[in-house]
Formats: sequence, structure tokens, C-alpha cells
Amino acid sequence: EAKNKGRNSYAFYHPSLTQKAAHYLTRERELHHALIKNEFLLHYQPQFSLSQKKITGVEALIRWQHPEKGLLSPAEIIPVAETSRLIVEIGNWILTEACKQLKQWRDRGFCDIRIAVNISIRQLADKDLQQFIAELLQQYALPAQSLELEITESCLQNELIYIRCLEQLESLGIPISIDDFGTGYSCLSSLKNLPIRRLKIDQSFVKGIPYDTNDCAIAAAILALAQKLNLQVTAEGIETYEQADFLGNLGCDELQGYLLSKPVDSEQIPYLIQKLPDRLSSLKF
Ligand code: C2E
Ligand code: MG
Ligand code: MG
Ligand code: MG
Repeated sequence: EAKNKGRNSYAFYHPSLTQKAAHYLTRERELHHALIKNEFLLHYQPQFSLSQKKITGVEALIRWQHPEKGLLSPAEIIPVAETSRLIVEIGNWILTEACKQLKQWRDRGFCDIRIAVNISIRQLADKDLQQFIAELLQQYALPAQSLELEITESCLQNELIYIRCLEQLESLGIPISIDDFGTGYSCLSSLKNLPIRRLKIDQSFVKGIPYDTNDCAIAAAILALAQKLNLQVTAEGIETYEQADFLGNLGCDELQGYLLSKPVDSEQIPYLIQKLPDRLSSLKF
């Protein structure tokens, strides 16, 4: 009785906190099982170069083939995984799978394609990341430039741990891009000081192009900044020809979005490499 009362009063004072913690623990356990049972898979979304008029890269995006719930999105995986070291384990699986797939495409003659992998801030802080990637490149005989890492602005903090990791990756020759650029708090000087190769314009700014004057202004400003700093730019979330033309006009290097293709399974990539240039021939750039 006293025990019951104690529990109730505890629940009374911290109901949402304990519920949330319990929920996360359950989800974490489920994710751990999913990793062991090999239920994760990668989909790939083409990145199309406007100057070369072809697919020059693909972004790897995680999915969860859940036995009951079907195909689940990263939203069901990443936020929970990021609260613990599980993100490092899942992240290492993602990196391995992406490199394995890239090797397979290269063996089939698609040699100049690049693969971009999303990296969480906790992975970047992992002291073994650089070594892990170096071994993967060796194991699958991949040139370092064929693997690109997408990090968010939160990784640009002026903290030694991140700076050192980015510099180590740079010394391996791995290109780094800033994902969702413009949505975080980046210190612009870090773009100058850190080894960054590319900015990805966030889809929230692409959405209103060409009708929303603010979105147009922000996209134009990012492109101008990137040009001055000699950075490549990929725009994500391209859904219309108007968006593609507007950004191409301002010198955007690569496009990614449903207009080109949704993320697809690996078998469809060779087909898209062949077909996309024709399908996009009406682009003015
Ligand atoms: P992100 O890295 O910015 O990826 C782009 C997201 O936009 C993807 O969602 C993609 O499917 C979606 N997208 C692409 N083109 C369009 C479009 O034209 N219109 C719209 N509305 N959306 C488009 P997805 O696959 O659900 O991934 C969401 C986020 O989850 C990613 O954002 C990334 O932050 C994270 N994520 C995905 N895969 C991984 C992963 O392997 N590791 C880590 N750490 N994070 C991942
Ligand atoms: Mg990304
Ligand atoms: Mg993004
Ligand atoms: Mg995003």
C-alpha cells in the first residue's frame, strides 16, 4: 500500500518524464533488435549535375523494413538512436552498407558515381570514426572522393573535438557537405576555416521558389556566398522545373528532389543513370 502510494506520487510529480524515458528505452531496444535482425536498408536518391547533365552522386537514406508496420522512415529511427551510442552502431552499419553498394556499382562500370552518407553529430565525436572509414575505403577499394559525408550545422561548433575529426576526414580526402544549410546556427567563419566542400540548400527554402521572394532571396544569397568561398552547392527538395531553372540560373551545381527521383532501392540507380538525362532534357541548364 505504502509502495503503491509512493509510486503514484512519483508518477504524479514526473509523469511525462518517466513515460518519455520508458518510451525511449523501449524504442531503443526495438532499434537494437532491428539492427541485429538486419531490418534496416538504404534507399538512394540521385543528385543531378546541371553542368554535366548527369547523375554524379546519390544520397543514402535509411529505411526500416518493420515486420508488422511496413517500411518506416528515418524519423522512426534517427531521433531515438541519437539519444545514445546506438547511433554509432547504426551509423557504422549505414557506412558499411553504402560502401558495399558503391563497390557493387563500380564493379558494374558505374565508376564516377559518388555516395553521400548522413552523419550524426554523435558519430562525428566518436574517436574511431576516421579509422573506421579508412578501413572501409581500403576494404572496398574506394577512392576517398567517392564517399561524401553530410553533416549539419550543429557539427560546426567551434569545439576541438569536431574540428579535429573534420580535419582528420579531410586528411583522408573525404569531402564534407553541410546539410540543411541555413536552418541551423552556423558561424560563417567556420565555412572558411573548416574543410567544407559543399553546401546543401535546405528544402524549406526551395519550397517557395520562384514565387516567395524571401525564399528566392535566401537561396540566391547562399549561392553567392558559396561562389565567393569556392564551395559546391546542391539544392534539395526540387519538385518543379521552375525551381530547377531558377536555381540553375543562379549557378547551383547539383539538384536533388522528387522532380528527378524519389529515393529508390539500389537496383533502380543504374536505370536512372541512363534515363534521367533524357527525362530532364527540357531543363534550360
Ligand atoms: P536529409 O539528409 O536532409 O534528407 C533529405 C530528405 O528529404 C529525405 O527524407 C528525402 O527523402 C526528402 N526529400 C528528397 N527530395 C524531396 C522532395 O522533392 N520533396 C520533399 N518533400 N522531400 C524530399 P528522409 O529519407 O525521410 O530523411 C529525413 C532525414 O533523416 C534526412 O534529412 C536526414 O537528416 C535523416 N537521415 C536519413 N537517413 C539517414 C542516415 O542514414 N543517417 C543519419 N544520421 N540520418 C539520416
Ligand atoms: Mg542529407
Ligand atoms: Mg537535407
Ligand atoms: Mg533535412
